[in-house]
Amino acid sequence: MAGSRGARPAASERLSRLARLGLRCDDDLALHLPLRYLDLTRVVPIAQARTGDEVQIEGVIRRQEITGRGRRVLSAELEDDSGRMALRLFNFYPSQLRQLAVGQRVRAFGQVRAGLFGAEMTHPTLRPAGGPAALPARLTPVYPAAAGISQALLRTEIAAALSRIHWPEPLTETQRQRLGLMPLRAALQLLHEPPPEVSRTSLDERSHPAWRTLILDELLAQQLSLREARERRAALRVEALADTGRAQALLGRLPFRLTGAQQRVWAEIAADLARDRPMNRLLQGDVGSGKTVVAALAALQAVGSGRQVALMAPTEILAEQHHRKLAAWLDDSLARVAWLSGSMKESDKRAVRAAVAAGEVDLLIGTHALIQDSVAFARLGLAIVDEQHRFGVAQRLALRGVGSPAEAASVPVAHQLMMSATPIPRSLAMSYYADLDVSVIDELPPGRQPVVTRLVEMGRRERVISAIGPALTEGRQVYWVCPLIEESEALDLQTAIDAHATLSAALAPWPVGLVHGRLAPAEKAATMAAFAAGELRVLVATTVIEVGVDVPNASLMVIEHAERFGLAQLHQLRGRVGRGSADSVCVLLYRNPLSDTARERLRIIFESQDGFEIARRDLQLRGPGELLGARQSGLPMLRHADLDRDAELVACARDLAAGPLAAQPERAAPIVARWLAGRGAFAQA
Ligand code: ADP
Ligand code: MG
Repeated sequence: MAGSRGARPAASERLSRLARLGLRCDDDLALHLPLRYLDLTRVVPIAQARTGDEVQIEGVIRRQEITGRGRRVLSAELEDDSGRMALRLFNFYPSQLRQLAVGQRVRAFGQVRAGLFGAEMTHPTLRPAGGPAALPARLTPVYPAAAGISQALLRTEIAAALSRIHWPEPLTETQRQRLGLMPLRAALQLLHEPPPEVSRTSLDERSHPAWRTLILDELLAQQLSLREARERRAALRVEALADTGRAQALLGRLPFRLTGAQQRVWAEIAADLARDRPMNRLLQGDVGSGKTVVAALAALQAVGSGRQVALMAPTEILAEQHHRKLAAWLDDSLARVAWLSGSMKESDKRAVRAAVAAGEVDLLIGTHALIQDSVAFARLGLAIVDEQHRFGVAQRLALRGVGSPAEAASVPVAHQLMMSATPIPRSLAMSYYADLDVSVIDELPPGRQPVVTRLVEMGRRERVISAIGPALTEGRQVYWVCPLIEESEALDLQTAIDAHATLSAALAPWPVGLVHGRLAPAEKAATMAAFAAGELRVLVATTVIEVGVDVPNASLMVIEHAERFGLAQLHQLRGRVGRGSADSVCVLLYRNPLSDTARERLRIIFESQDGFEIARRDLQLRGPGELLGARQSGLPMLRHADLDRDAELVACARDLAAGPLAAQPERAAPIVARWLAGRGAFAQA
């Protein structure tokens, strides 16, 4: 392996500090790239130093003064041939007092600010001038640091690491030239110690060939490790599940015909299941595109082939709804369905688990309780994860071990189907989900009406409420979504409980329902069922209805404090209406003043109904971390590459990893090792 892990003789204290920054070996140090640079290579005449510039000046101290009581301020005046500049230190050491004594010749580096009495520098970096203190020949790197880790320590350690590493060149000269990249070693050297003539802008914007070389290397590591994971999976064997008899039977019973897109993805999934390799497929389809029925078909193919199926959803409401829907479609001749939720009585849970373990349940539906309570399936053949994006990476890793928790995160034991309404943008899919096959439902069932989106300022809330009565008279059903449950004066949010009271009074005698996270699950389920049955016409809800709830007759949605919701959430919520044949309206109530991002989010959701477009712009606004759910789980993200800015390099990396490098493990292995040693699990999530 490249790099000499642990071979350095260094104080353990220093090592543990560096480890806090994730710097555990020479490879880590070498790849710890500067955030920015200081130009200490030249001295600027004071008269040419403009406010805002970060410059180095040199001259003689003409005046020194200490002012203030308690917190004393040291002021000095530095003069060169062109002018004078004030230097100010709000805390200072006796040594600095001597350095800035009248008549001393010093160099000061810092940002020029407009002070009360003209240009000044506060807390400049000071060096004695004249004599042997030669100017450095290179730009000075500024590294990401942390408490107790100085730039000086980082520079020393990194320089030492650079002298020790011997990385083989990952690309051939031809490949490099085609991509306009540098040899890796030269690129690394340049980024850590750039010569002064290098364009600062190209360094800051990371468009310099040296940056692009390192970014491609990081992306290569990611692609190669994903390929490895894929190959490992392809080498696994599972039982082929080929019987489609029951699935065909369900198709005959449905009150609708599959759309072309549903037929296509169902065929893809059916073919996967019929192979003896574990399926690892993501089913993407915008909200309302009809993913549930495809999941049911897949489940029946597994059940028909003698295997059990787990269907997991992120919330109890959603799991319960799946259970209701699937139980209505399926009878015991097709599949014996059971459901399990965290809030069930322990004795009931035990009974369900026992039935599953005895093989008396074919399809088990539930929430994470499935993972946490470690159900032992008699013969699990397929795990289906709905609203996959709601699960963090760590949870997804754990899901693979369903049925054998001890092996969690090792190998998949069953076919796996994940479903998501939050489309993963192409660049993200290529770089994080390369080990995943993707099926897309790109068509909605016929008769769906586009949802009209209205942005309404909070001041007109009364008018919105008064429009609900007539909508109810027309036979519509209405969602009213609030962001918080309880009064929080600090946030000044209208609460669900308040909204429920207000709406109940304004709309009497229409009954108004209320669901929120603090309700007992049985109560929640009863209210949802009453709304689904049309007995309740108005439902006030917190975001518990966000994912997956399906009541086709609901055609009006009001979202209070829409500015507080994320884009994906707004899109999901809005997808709860427009499922029937009536014209649907989604009213976004917002409160001024809006932050820039909130304004941007509302503009995007107003302009677009296309989940892919929304996700793409969400990625630009937020970066990939949150979209992946990885930030919370603490797993490492890309360190330097930016999927949006470097989209073209992502594509290059994918092609190189699939082609030339796949055939040359001696080139490929060191790339993965230097970037991902010890971090491999993430790449397989
Ligand atoms: P999602 O993809 O958001 O999970 P669902 O599976 O909940 O969507 O489907 C939304 C609604 O559309 C459900 O009521 C479902 O029964 C219905 N549906 C699904 N497929 C079709 C179809 N081909 N034709 C008509 N309605 C359909
Ligand atoms: Mg769904």
